[in-house]
Amino acid sequence: MAGAKHVLVVGAGISGLACAYRLHRFGVSVSLVESAARAGGLIGTAQQNGFLFESGPQSFSGTDEILDVVRELGIEGEVCKADPRAPRYVLRRGRLLKVPMSPQAVLSSSLLGLGTRWKIASEPFGRTRPPSEEESVAQFVRRKFGHEILEYLVSPFVSGIYAGDPERLSLRAAFPTLEEWERRYGSVLRGAMKSRPSKGARKGPVSLCSFRGGMAALTEALATKLGDQLHLGTRAEELRARDEGERYEIRIAKDGRVEIVTADAVVLATPAYASAHLVSSISSSLSKVLSGIAYAPVAVAAFGYHEGQVGMPIDGFGVLIPRAERIRTLGIVWNSSLFPDRAGPGRVVLTGIAGGATDPGIVDQPENEIARIVQRDSEEILDVTGPPIATAVWKYPKALPQYNLGHGHAVRAIRDSERSIPGLYVAGNFLNGPSLGKCIEKGFETAEAVRDYLQTGR
Ligand SMILES: Cc1cc2nc3c(=O)[nH]c(=O)nc-3n(C[C@H](O)[C@H](O)[C@H](O)COP(=O)(O)OP(=O)(O)OC[C@H]3O[C@@H](n4cnc5c(N)ncnc54)[C@H](O)[C@@H]3O)c2cc1C
Repeated sequence: MAGAKHVLVVGAGISGLACAYRLHRFGVSVSLVESAARAGGLIGTAQQNGFLFESGPQSFSGTDEILDVVRELGIEGEVCKADPRAPRYVLRRGRLLKVPMSPQAVLSSSLLGLGTRWKIASEPFGRTRPPSEEESVAQFVRRKFGHEILEYLVSPFVSGIYAGDPERLSLRAAFPTLEEWERRYGSVLRGAMKSRPSKGARKGPVSLCSFRGGMAALTEALATKLGDQLHLGTRAEELRARDEGERYEIRIAKDGRVEIVTADAVVLATPAYASAHLVSSISSSLSKVLSGIAYAPVAVAAFGYHEGQVGMPIDGFGVLIPRAERIRTLGIVWNSSLFPDRAGPGRVVLTGIAGGATDPGIVDQPENEIARIVQRDSEEILDVTGPPIATAVWKYPKALPQYNLGHGHAVRAIRDSERSIPGLYVAGNFLNGPSLGKCIEKGFETAEAVRDYLQTGR
């Protein structure tokens, strides 16, 4: 019976919280251990001088799946949705240009030259096939649409999602639907059109969402549901198989004391490099694959200003900054324009993201220097004057896993290892995708696999 067996989940980021919460709902006995003093992992909200700052994700895509979880948690009244028509901007030659959000808008956009617009317009009328060898995102975009769209649209978006380098990111791993559309329809735009839901089934655009109290409302609600099954400040140090793989022994450290706990199944919802360390005495091959997954560093600098200090209207999602503009900040999110309760009347919150795979050195800088760099870039791009009223900086030397060339092989090898080690599961943002929705989906999928294993031994 599942109820008599015990599961240990390691890591209380959104992946581990989602997995443990689902197991708890299934009636499985579960403990979730987290080395930090709070749950949430990369998700964090901070209040400073009346400003609300996000230390990690700034929003999430309000898909039906996430909003169902939010309802189940009883925090749907806390959700705030950004206006789906809120413009996004890209910087080109120092000017903020609106990102075209529809095929018609692409054709009339001043962001792209005539040649590029013609390539986009004519793409659905041709037929191409993906090459047999794995292509990087940059190779794909250059082959299909040319360099300009890579530089001014795709690369900035890739920075926004993966903090990645499009020359190294795998199209198949990072954007599998694009490769699939080309393979099936010979054209990505035709594929996009054919894959659109029929008029009756269309639910309208998926909004970007957050919570009135910030992104941490989601992880706090999950943590509350888990109650004393969540153990903070508790670090898993080593994992060993016992009774010929029937059970696991886990060395746990808390408050300077070490303890061995046992479990019938273990879910590692830690970053790939941490999971690599934990599984090293169980499977050296799994450990090697996990440790091969590269991570990009990211720095986040959030600022509170008086509205009058910003020399242009702050009326959209924010601005993405192509590398060709030779500005260090990758993008600036206009939080207080998207969501209420961020800044109070007459004040604004801007959050700059810097670093990524193409500028790893940023996290070697002290926090005040990172703040200075992003502040100076905001002055140049948004005509900001004077010092901010409030500032906060967070540095992540290993922020986001890189879905680089070969990532698909690594994920398959992880899944094969999971199948060959009964009762051991791996979750996290390096498997199905880094967005919160994908992490939750993978957490739930893992919980279902664990429940089935406890019930059937398979
Ligand atoms: C700056 C930034 C902005 C982002 N913006 C967005 C966005 O706008 N929208 C979006 O959808 N996604 C965004 N993401 C991505 C998203 O935030 C992450 O992919 C997601 O939060 C990862 O969750 P996770 O649980 O897989 O990993 P993590 O959040 O890294 O959690 C892993 C947890 O494991 C714990 N841990 C590690 N080792 C041990 C151990 N030995 N014992 C116990 N505990 C351990 C860690 O302390 C941590 O809490 C962003 C990411 C970053 C960095």
